[in-house]
Amino acid sequence: MSALTSVSGFPRVGQNRELKKIIEGYWKGANTLGEVRATAKELRAKHWKLQQAAGIDLIPSNDFSFYDQVLDTAILLNAIPQRYQRLAFENPEETLFAMGRGYQGEKGDVTALPMKKWFTTNYHYLVPEIDAATDIKLNGTKPFDEYLEAKELGIDTKPVLIGPYTFLKLARDPQAQELEFDKGLVNAVSAVYAEALAKFAELGAAWVQIDEPYLVLDKEPGDVELFKALYAKILPARDGKVKVLLNTYFGHIADVYETVNLLGFDGIGLDLNEGKDENLAALAQYGVAEGTVIFAGVINGRNIWRNDYAVSLGLVDAIKQITPNVAVSTASSLLHVPFSTEGENGLDEGVLKHFAFAVEKLGELRDVAELADADEDAKKASAALTANQALFDGTRVAADPAVAARLAQLTDADFTRQPARAERQQLQREALNLPLLPTTTIGSFPQTREVRAERAKLRKGEIDQATYDAFIKQQIDDCIKSQEEIGLDVLVHGEFERNDMVEYFGQNLNGFLFTKNAWVQSYGTRCVKPPIVWGDVSRANPITVEWSAYAQSRTDRVMKGMLTGPVTILNWSWPREDITHEQQTQQLALAIRDEVLDLEAAGIKVIQIDEAALREKLPLRKTDWHAKYLDWAIPAFRLVHSAVKPATQIHTHMCYSEFNDIIRDIDAMDADVISFEASRGDLVVLDAIHEAEFETEAGPGVYDIHSPRIPSEAEIEERIGEILKKMDVSKVWINPDCGLKTRGVAETWPSLEHLVAATKAVRASL
Ligand code: GLN
Ligand code: ZN
Repeated sequence: MSALTSVSGFPRVGQNRELKKIIEGYWKGANTLGEVRATAKELRAKHWKLQQAAGIDLIPSNDFSFYDQVLDTAILLNAIPQRYQRLAFENPEETLFAMGRGYQGEKGDVTALPMKKWFTTNYHYLVPEIDAATDIKLNGTKPFDEYLEAKELGIDTKPVLIGPYTFLKLARDPQAQELEFDKGLVNAVSAVYAEALAKFAELGAAWVQIDEPYLVLDKEPGDVELFKALYAKILPARDGKVKVLLNTYFGHIADVYETVNLLGFDGIGLDLNEGKDENLAALAQYGVAEGTVIFAGVINGRNIWRNDYAVSLGLVDAIKQITPNVAVSTASSLLHVPFSTEGENGLDEGVLKHFAFAVEKLGELRDVAELADADEDAKKASAALTANQALFDGTRVAADPAVAARLAQLTDADFTRQPARAERQQLQREALNLPLLPTTTIGSFPQTREVRAERAKLRKGEIDQATYDAFIKQQIDDCIKSQEEIGLDVLVHGEFERNDMVEYFGQNLNGFLFTKNAWVQSYGTRCVKPPIVWGDVSRANPITVEWSAYAQSRTDRVMKGMLTGPVTILNWSWPREDITHEQQTQQLALAIRDEVLDLEAAGIKVIQIDEAALREKLPLRKTDWHAKYLDWAIPAFRLVHSAVKPATQIHTHMCYSEFNDIIRDIDAMDADVISFEASRGDLVVLDAIHEAEFETEAGPGVYDIHSPRIPSEAEIEERIGEILKKMDVSKVWINPDCGLKTRGVAETWPSLEHLVAATKAVRASL
């Protein structure tokens, strides 16, 4: 007998990204929808069987998705905006993809739903829309079909639903500032969940997991009442036949634990990695209702490191002091970790033994559950426990004393750029001689199949470095020529030499390790492969200088240098856990600072330091924002650029516009220009910029690059008009909302032509 084991969710893209490949093949017309469905079914079966073989008791179903589980939830609740319904597709998947990525074709022309980051992860969900026309009702049978599909394989799964509270809190009303949770809406939504529960009971499911990660955020007035109202209607539908696990993750729920406990859930899932102290304190204070099982989330769903069994066992023990009813669980879905370490033969055993990806975490979950119920003798005899302890005894890597010495010497002056920004702006205007509303792009241009093939050839040794370099130079030349032709003002070299904005830097810095296949879903079919911070970080040699200098030599226009900032490199890598994020970010900041100064010395006058991921790691609770993050993240960015000359213009870019609340912190990064994503969301950020008297010049993206849709000139002109209502024209830049790397050539150039034409029209009208 050992404690019940539960997995919150499993990666769905497949060990070799099979789902990505087949869906993209379908979008290109190379695969049929039938083939997509078949691959999806195979993957689901494979993933369930893997979990079964690992001895997991509660295996999730409905954690699969063709695109995004929040989108699936919106569809399940029939929150499908009219504009997508009107396309009148024959297959539900076509509607789903139109909502996810927009649609431009014979049936119409619609943009995608806005996309946002899923809590503090690098996963993006689609923001559901609810307005007066939305008719909430149970739509489709996906969760039930998948439950039955597993059952046919002999696996009685635990269906997973995104909960009603989280769904409503994430949804927006496009017509209003805020979605109103009126009684009709609340009743309609809870009725759907009640119906689903009843249906699962009828189908024979033992447990249903309802995910409410939004509970880990600060509560606004009315939130707790909303939560209670929803579940008071939903829980009776259990009818004694099915158990409900209320699952939370990415933080603690100490502020609502008492309420949650009183509602009588059959299980409560708590994250015992993030927010463990608060969760444990709440358990100790309020106890656990009779008949409620605490699902102790001890296996980290956000890291790639081996679990420290002694720590996990200590946590389970602490809960056992309060209640005997403990199950052992992943702390969150495993969606956010790579599939398996199997096949990572580029890393040696001594390194690999420190890693646990999704499949390995299943084994850890099993081990911890068994050990949790073992007596002292059995623990002593456990080979698994002994091997695990050995991993955590002693230090994993030797420190680099040179890095420590450099950090020790830093003073306040190293974090402050001189002179003040207003003064610099004047000098930069003279030095760069740009028109009003300067146009630029975010850095990358389409990474065509040809570019990727050439890089693969270099990797395999089929071509030499010189051949590869010549090829990249040709790409740069062509890209510059096209940018000049369409009339952009500040050019970029196109980033053809980079596989990825983080991995590329990691490869050129000391202290990083790389995997072959450790992909993690980012949005839709897009996956990322974060590098691993293994040791102390420093820069061995210049990284981008040669490429940028070459590009500048090919044009009379201003060429923008292109770097990734320290906060983003860390946030999009797998960080170490033996030193703090602050320490790792500072190490990175010094490395990138070296690169900034070398670029400047090579004649680059504009340098963009991307902090695409700065916003996403903002702690979920406001009280933690500064103390646990911004107080070191913002200075780390300043450390990168504080030593450049006044006339050198520092840009930054962020993949997120939701920084209204931290607008002053963004200003405090002390960049000269910032570009950010604003085209998919609302333009509330412009109000914030206006109100805060934001000093940094800004380019709010004027079109959405996550969709293959080509924006019209009129559309962009209108967008610029909206921006100019809120910002002083002398501070506005015109750019797309992110890099163009994932776009096709066919849509990129016409889109940019429209951008330049729209800008010229606006300039002429000023
Ligand atoms: N410079 C990067 C690019 O253009 C920025 C990408 C990003 O913000 N994600 O690809
Ligand atoms: Zn971006």
